[in-house]
Amino acid sequence: MATSASSQNHDRVLVYAEYLSRIRSIAISIQLSELCYPQQLTFRDVRTAVLHYTKASGSSDSTTGVHDESNESSKEKQNHESNRSDQLDELESSTASGITDSIELNQKEKSSNSNDNEFIINLPEDITVRVSESTIPISELTSTLSFRLPASPELADVLQTKLNFYDSYDQIPWSADMLNSHKVSFCCVQCDGELVKPNRIKQWKSLPSENWAEMMDFWHCHKPKSEDDNMASKFNPSYAVSKFTPYSGTVLVGDCYFYLFKDDTTARVVGETVACEKCGYDLGTCDASDKTSLTVWKWNLKLVTPDVSTDNTKTKDDIREAVASTNTCMPTKKPAKPLRLTYPLHQYVSTVIARLIDSHAIYTFSITDMDEKPDLLLWVFNPDIKYTTATSAKGQRGFKIVYTYDKKIMPSLEKTRGEIEVVKFPPRVLEVLKAHLVENTLSLPENARSFGQWTVSMLEKIN
Ligand SMILES: [Zn+2]
Ligand SMILES: [Zn+2]
Repeated sequence: MATSASSQNHDRVLVYAEYLSRIRSIAISIQLSELCYPQQLTFRDVRTAVLHYTKASGSSDSTTGVHDESNESSKEKQNHESNRSDQLDELESSTASGITDSIELNQKEKSSNSNDNEFIINLPEDITVRVSESTIPISELTSTLSFRLPASPELADVLQTKLNFYDSYDQIPWSADMLNSHKVSFCCVQCDGELVKPNRIKQWKSLPSENWAEMMDFWHCHKPKSEDDNMASKFNPSYAVSKFTPYSGTVLVGDCYFYLFKDDTTARVVGETVACEKCGYDLGTCDASDKTSLTVWKWNLKLVTPDVSTDNTKTKDDIREAVASTNTCMPTKKPAKPLRLTYPLHQYVSTVIARLIDSHAIYTFSITDMDEKPDLLLWVFNPDIKYTTATSAKGQRGFKIVYTYDKKIMPSLEKTRGEIEVVKFPPRVLEVLKAHLVENTLSLPENARSFGQWTVSMLEKIN
């Protein structure tokens, strides 16, 4: 009997589907567990593929082991690949009657097969209608499969425009635009103690990105090193000393921090550290020469939505929507009670990487702790992808990356790369980043998890 979508065992099938914008195709890699054999691929609609497979008797639902294909020669694999593209070529050139025949055949086969299991594959982009109305038979006894399906050209055009990675950082966590259109506040991530005094902030202003770079000492490779460089830098506007300082009622918004006027906040300044007044948590920094301008990292804060519980106009629907929106970073409707919201911490890393790719065209990053001790080496393979996996059904935008945090091979891999940008993050962010990358690696079919000594993964962007 066919299993329903809701009862799918994700341990049995690993799927990675990526939209390849340049060739307007969707690449799908699939790995089935041991004793499961694929039969055919059909389509429910232009976004949903269905993998039909059989389980050999004796295999149980708890099977998580996967077929070891290490003995399979690469030549054989290549043959599989080319067979697959031949099939697709046929598929694309097949006549309407040919497709009808194949669907009828499919139904006959299905009725005679009592052990038909289905696995639903959500696609990151629409495929062509013609392919979606067809059936792709699979004749080999194999546990790993890969397909390339043509994507719908009209929508692909639209997406290609969107996929221009120069636009990829237009969404930063808690942007000035977002904050100006909502009456929000911020509190300490540790104790929920309020950071911003009530009714003090009149406007949130974006910092120019050049300024962001130089002022925050956030990266190092292009900063003047000698006195000569320092002289030269006086003629380079991007090194000009910042004239952007926060003032009462105005917060300057960077990619990863807020620049606040001290009297607008409850924060305590201890030396050059900005601390939570209530619990003492380290929220950010300030310059010894200017203790009224505070830098507070966004990852040390929670956004607090407005309290409208006294508002008479609220309805049950408002409350329901408020509850439904707690998983997002900014509710679409005003919630009845204040919510405290954060971004997944790895999205700060993707924000910084998107910014650095745009401004420096550098794709390799040494991600370090705040003392610049290297923690992770990361190379961005593709700066803008849209993908789905067996557990992440909605098309997610991200970076296709390779990485290592093995300290033994990091130095030799560094030498294979050109310019490397050093990016610092606190341990909390690094831990979440590593967990995110490892989780995404494990969602890939095993034969897609490594590239030489590198490990392959996806780094999610703010969708
Ligand atoms: Zn606190
Ligand atoms: Zn640089």
